[in-house]
Amino acid sequence: MVVANEVNCMPILASIGVNGKRVTELPKEIGIKDFMKSIIASDPDTKEKKEPFFVLDLGLVKSLMDKWTKNLPTVRPFYAVKCNPDPCFLAYMASLGSNFDCASQAEIELVISLGVSPDRIIFANPCKAESHIRYAAKVGVMRSTFDSVYEVEKMKKCFPGGQLLIRVKAPDDASAMSPLGAKYGALPDEVEPLLKAAQSAGIDVVGVSFHVGSGTTDYSAYHSAISVARGVFDTAAKLGLPKMRVLNIGGGFSAGPQFVNASDAVKFGIQTYFEDQEDDDDDDDSLEIIAEPGRYFAECPFTLAASVIGKRVRGDLREYYINDGIYGSLCCLLNKHSVLTFEPLALESDPDNIPTRSGSTTTHRSTVFGPTCDALDTLAKNYSLPEMEVGDWLLFPNRGAYSAACASNFNGFKAVGISTHLVYSNNHS
Ligand SMILES: *Cc1c(COP(=O)(O)O)cnc(C)c1O
Repeated sequence: MVVANEVNCMPILASIGVNGKRVTELPKEIGIKDFMKSIIASDPDTKEKKEPFFVLDLGLVKSLMDKWTKNLPTVRPFYAVKCNPDPCFLAYMASLGSNFDCASQAEIELVISLGVSPDRIIFANPCKAESHIRYAAKVGVMRSTFDSVYEVEKMKKCFPGGQLLIRVKAPDDASAMSPLGAKYGALPDEVEPLLKAAQSAGIDVVGVSFHVGSGTTDYSAYHSAISVARGVFDTAAKLGLPKMRVLNIGGGFSAGPQFVNASDAVKFGIQTYFEDQEDDDDDDDSLEIIAEPGRYFAECPFTLAASVIGKRVRGDLREYYINDGIYGSLCCLLNKHSVLTFEPLALESDPDNIPTRSGSTTTHRSTVFGPTCDALDTLAKNYSLPEMEVGDWLLFPNRGAYSAACASNFNGFKAVGISTHLVYSNNHS
């Protein structure tokens, strides 16, 4: 059984508006899986209804922040709220000193409700509704992004004192799981007219932003995008605009060993193209480098558990229906590059039937479906699983990015707002 210790992040969470949540400290020898089994066995609601649930590991969030600070000490993170807006997660990120990238009025309201001051928020949506711009002006969220003259006009009308960053298209975003260049970002020959439009509207353009695409594996994309940003800084100087001072390198980072490669590419890019301004001693001109990581912080700390609600046997093939799916927390599967991995968690039908130690357990070719009546709601085919029965559980690791955030209640399956249990694990170096 898990020893429940209330850890030091409790007062932090309470002080920034997340009350009544319990954090269970996990000693080194107890893993997330053991904790999940204890929830399944003893949490009254879970035991009875077998609804899916998340476990959020705040200890892992802390270690990701430490890793960020170690590898990118000069880059201030503005966590991208859209990736996972869980209030406890946001509150804990705030307590670790993170700032926030919000894309809508509701996201700004949520972050402010946690006690975060507006100067720690960037409204990083290049195309905003006028009412949302007015709201940002009212609460004092000063910075936003743009990539069209229409946005300049809206700013002039609704928030003339606001500051803008010009969002440019990252040249090499093709390797990303979800490239964003088709939707956002000024092309090279659009930059000068946009800067001139802002100049004549009297709007302060303080810097440049880009996004190399979510889940990129080609880290040279950061280097080439930073070179594009350098060109925009130079164009602004040529046009006689006030010296640009903010470089926003966006998101696209993943946790894991590849983070070091991405951060090296970023540091190399900054060194190559911004060395002079980075070391500038003059406070007004010194370069402020920010980023908008979403996936990096949110993906790994969340683990999902879902239970088997139906089964069919066809020869050697096993087909299982579980109570979460692509219209719920696993919606990122609709993005064809996302790969789902999972494992049996608690086989109440046969607890020894988990193929871990001996490897001798018989497995079957299995299909796993989500609960809705749409055939698209298929999570895996030809997946090797031991025999499972209705009531058994599956565990899905690393499910915090673009998961619960995109869930719907399609077909009456309550995927929005499934419960999240908080733990603080201690086994991160
Ligand atoms: C989605 C988004 C992010 C976060 O991207 P990740 O790939 O999850 O890091 C950051 N900035 C903007 C503008 C975004 O739209």
